[in-house]
Amino acid sequence: MARLTVQGLQKYYGKVHALRGIDLDINEGEFCVFVGPSGCGKSTLLRTIAGLEDIDGGSIAFDGEPMAGVPPRARNIAMVFQNYALYPYLNVFENIAFGLRARKFAEAEIRRRVDRAAAMLGIGPLLERLPRELSGGQRQRVAIGRAVVRDARLFLFDEPLSNLDAQLRDGMRAEIKRLHQEIGKTTIYVTHDQIEAMTLADRIVLLKDGVIEQQGAPLELFERPATKFVAGFLGSPQMNFISCRVEDGALRFSDGRALRLPPAKAARLANGRTLTLGIRPEHFSRAGGSARSGQVPLRVTVELVQPTGTRTYATFQLGEAEVSAELPAHTVEAPGTELDLLADLDRAILIDPESERVV
Ligand code: ADP
Repeated sequence: MARLTVQGLQKYYGKVHALRGIDLDINEGEFCVFVGPSGCGKSTLLRTIAGLEDIDGGSIAFDGEPMAGVPPRARNIAMVFQNYALYPYLNVFENIAFGLRARKFAEAEIRRRVDRAAAMLGIGPLLERLPRELSGGQRQRVAIGRAVVRDARLFLFDEPLSNLDAQLRDGMRAEIKRLHQEIGKTTIYVTHDQIEAMTLADRIVLLKDGVIEQQGAPLELFERPATKFVAGFLGSPQMNFISCRVEDGALRFSDGRALRLPPAKAARLANGRTLTLGIRPEHFSRAGGSARSGQVPLRVTVELVQPTGTRTYATFQLGEAEVSAELPAHTVEAPGTELDLLADLDRAILIDPESERVV
């Protein structure tokens, strides 16, 4: 197992400044997910940690030991890639055993480790098969098995599920999480998928343009985003963003409608200030029962109804924004319906439109 320390990491590809001063501490046994839009530098960061890319500044250390000049093979890392190239003419057993044979492990020890990994991954009955006789999900399990048998101190996953169909992906995601709980090794996992990041991570590191935008526990980032970017990246459907002005203890929208601010929030905001309200679809509810403080009434005209089965999404106009509210099924059936909602301003966020930081 290993603790990973990254300090001031810089990486250029020619003129492209791919990593701009990354500082990161990953604790022993932690499951850390690098997430962010395509091109933000996640794979580059992972590859520099693996030693597959040179760095142009800063440092990387495992358990305090600097990795400068240490080649990938000597870093004792196990990696699982998106393209899990298995050896086509070797059966599952030999594919998993390959790295152990290369390191001259004894036959009995190879057998023991392969059997254990195969049992953990539920591929015990497939050991004699060739890769072409396996489904995509089974192949991905073999690739993970190959990483698990090595007694690596660090596990790195680079978008390992992105070639699988949605249903398989859900299953494998649960399996990877269970595997981590079982073996408890420090793991870094790269994905562009926010659901994968939320469900797998002990800690999410959200990257944007080669810098860490925010890092923390999944629910911490979800509930207390520091920026509009983080708020918009996590959560599906996305958070609604609506521009407004503070006016006499309320948020006033461009169509003249207003939401009364909870007193504690109102006290901190200067009259006349322009803001962006960030409110998730699930922060709306149907008016009717007793409202908590912070839940303020809003009458809307529903323009679009999208049932998903358990929940229904209702879209309406507020100021200049199209806003989506998540409601129980059957709350609203047809467009044109007038609906009395409650907006939970205790859970919503307010963003400074200039800095795009949460205020
Ligand atoms: P992500 O994994 O988040 O999609 P990458 O780490 O692959 O992003 O890329 C970060 C940036 O570096 C991007 O602008 C990408 O185009 C650039 N980049 C990545 N690899 C190379 C390379 N081998 N040569 C040149 N530019 C690269």
